[in-house]
Amino acid sequence: MQLIYIKEDKYQYDIHSLYKAFYPDQDVKVVVGKSGTADLSGLDISASDEISFIDVKKSKNDLKRDIYLELSGKTGKILPWGDLTGIRPTRIAMNLIEEGKSDEEIADYMKNTYLVSDEKTRLAIDIARREKRILSNIDYENGYSLYIGIPFCPTTCLYCSFTSYPIGRFKGMVGDYITCLEKEIDYVAGDFEGKVPDTVYIGGGTPTTLEPDEMRRLIWYLRSKVDLSHIKEFTVESGRPDSFTKDKLRAMKEMGVTRISVNPQTMNDETLRLIGRQHTVAELIDAFHMARDEGFDNINMDIILGLPGEDAGDVAHTMMEIEKLAPDDLTVHSLAIKRGSRLYEVIRQKELSGEVKHTLQESINNTEEMMKIAAEGAAAMGLKPYYLYRQKNISGNFENTGYAKEGRAGIYNILINEEVQSIVALGAGTVTKRVFGEAGRIERCDNVKDVKLYIDCCDEMIERKRRLFAL
Ligand code: SF4
Repeated sequence: MQLIYIKEDKYQYDIHSLYKAFYPDQDVKVVVGKSGTADLSGLDISASDEISFIDVKKSKNDLKRDIYLELSGKTGKILPWGDLTGIRPTRIAMNLIEEGKSDEEIADYMKNTYLVSDEKTRLAIDIARREKRILSNIDYENGYSLYIGIPFCPTTCLYCSFTSYPIGRFKGMVGDYITCLEKEIDYVAGDFEGKVPDTVYIGGGTPTTLEPDEMRRLIWYLRSKVDLSHIKEFTVESGRPDSFTKDKLRAMKEMGVTRISVNPQTMNDETLRLIGRQHTVAELIDAFHMARDEGFDNINMDIILGLPGEDAGDVAHTMMEIEKLAPDDLTVHSLAIKRGSRLYEVIRQKELSGEVKHTLQESINNTEEMMKIAAEGAAAMGLKPYYLYRQKNISGNFENTGYAKEGRAGIYNILINEEVQSIVALGAGTVTKRVFGEAGRIERCDNVKDVKLYIDCCDEMIERKRRLFAL
């Protein structure tokens, strides 16, 4: 364990994140108080734990820089995003673009202030300029986007930390669930009357676990209540190829869905089995062709780098197979092992039982080489980076990047990642975000995750949103 004492209750999150980036497989605790006087109850300290004392008097940037340089010297690691934690890199670039700074000035600022590498600096600036161009056609400050969560999946993937319930066991609740979504749609239709939604995103979970009639019922209801005549994009995550059929695709097409995702995560059958997906690569390929045949001309694919047991050769193989399908949009994720996911528990158990010699972090393996293979593969398909975000506990301390063909970028992805527009979210486990124009202030409210509870207290979820938007 890394145990860090700080004198004042300041910058705890930043210090924790930075230490965690250098010591991903160790527990990191930041404790307020001088050594010997801090409350250590509940901490299981052993002789091998490293204890540091940090003076937090400096400015945040100086402090983080000093910690970074010290830990980099100690571990020999250089982090691609330098000491950047908790700030979206593209937001920094975007703010400086808005101030009229040149690319050179922005690059100097990011490198000198946060020690970001040349390559990541270029990526952040490139994406920020592209985002700005895409958003320039949208009056996003006066609009809003709508997110509808369908929290059911065919099975639960090993790495999943989203709200997801196996459809087999929850089938009987789907009708009531849609009824509650309809109530939430009524709320949107009433309280947002006169405002125009820019994008609609039905995500999950796996929305295509809904039967064709259920999908029609939901979208028809939405269309009958909310004016969608001006929306720029209507996405349905069709994620798992083991969840959709020709009939479902046809229902979505009829209902005006413009963008779907067909997510392989990897094009290696062995890994698919390992991560708990009950479909093969061949089925994924068939599903992709089926979606094209049904007329979908904007298809996103997601892949994950750093999946257990995969090396650079596997990533190269995945990219080669994806290139043959030529998706319009490709999101490259770095695996994030989140507490609460089955993957976290499985690996932890194996470590504890001595079944595996490697640590939690060593068993996943995203590398700079894999990131490069993915970026070059995307470029070879004519896809350009258009959004990126970073998460906690992300493999290799890298980022997730969305690439798209010209004119096919997922607008909802930009709006939500840059946090420039309010997102009204309906359904179990969803989070509504209100973006206040001034100073980018953001307030959130959550819907409960449990499906049964959501159905029972849907009115309360609506009230929470009403209060949030009355602020
Ligand atoms: S498809 Fe997505 S939401 Fe469903 S179990 Fe897998 S990771 Fe979780």
